[in-house]
Amino acid sequence: MMQPRSNQARPYIVGNWKMNGALADIAILAAIADAVGSDDSIDIGICPPATLIASFAMQCGAMDIGAQDCHAATCGAHTGCLSAAMLKEVGAAFAIVGHSERRAGQYESDADVAAKAHALHAAGMGAIVCVGETLAQRDCGDAIAIVTAQLAASLPALAATDWLSVAYEPVWAIGTGRVPGLADIAAMHAALRATLVEKLGEAGKGVRILYGGSVNPDNASGILAIADVGGALVGGASLKPESFLPIIAAAPR
Ligand code: PEP
Repeated sequence: MMQPRSNQARPYIVGNWKMNGALADIAILAAIADAVGSDDSIDIGICPPATLIASFAMQCGAMDIGAQDCHAATCGAHTGCLSAAMLKEVGAAFAIVGHSERRAGQYESDADVAAKAHALHAAGMGAIVCVGETLAQRDCGDAIAIVTAQLAASLPALAATDWLSVAYEPVWAIGTGRVPGLADIAAMHAALRATLVEKLGEAGKGVRILYGGSVNPDNASGILAIADVGGALVGGASLKPESFLPIIAAAPR
């Protein structure tokens, strides 16, 4: 079934619809897919709620459809959960794991996130592993140490470049309209790159590190031009073509 079409050399722009969207919103997906066409200079993913994955996967054109989470187990007594293979069967090529809303709301640990990423890889899917600091952690001056440690503990043992991406998402920037300074984003991405190389060796150089947190059409080009920013994970602005398409257009290629 679905395999991620990603190529680590290309920018990667991913929309996270969170708990928004209904079947009728396939018109939004179709408008984005039409505008993107068959552009092979960029990878684009959209993660709708799980209820929409099957229908969206049939209308997504050159884009990939992803899930917003998966369970680490392949099957069993996990009421309300979905395995990687189940999501793949209905058309998901990848999933976001470790989003801060799940780490906070569902108490997911770094080990949980690593196990979920491992399950995605075992199912032949891509994984976007999210990390990020709270405002209190940033204000204490500990952000880089905390986020790099979070990444090291959230990476599955099998990590390699062709299926894995990382998203740096400061918790305080998500949905707030606040964005770190470009120098702060650059410093964090450089530190995350060093962690990836330390953990994965040469393969760590190729893993795309996305920035996420209040990316919009006005700030996208500045953020996406930073070295080691390989793309963006976009929440609110991905819900409408008029805000998502300019972000896609802003990605350097
Ligand atoms: C997100 O939740 O992943 C996100 C980046 O949200 P927003 O773009 O709305 O800040």
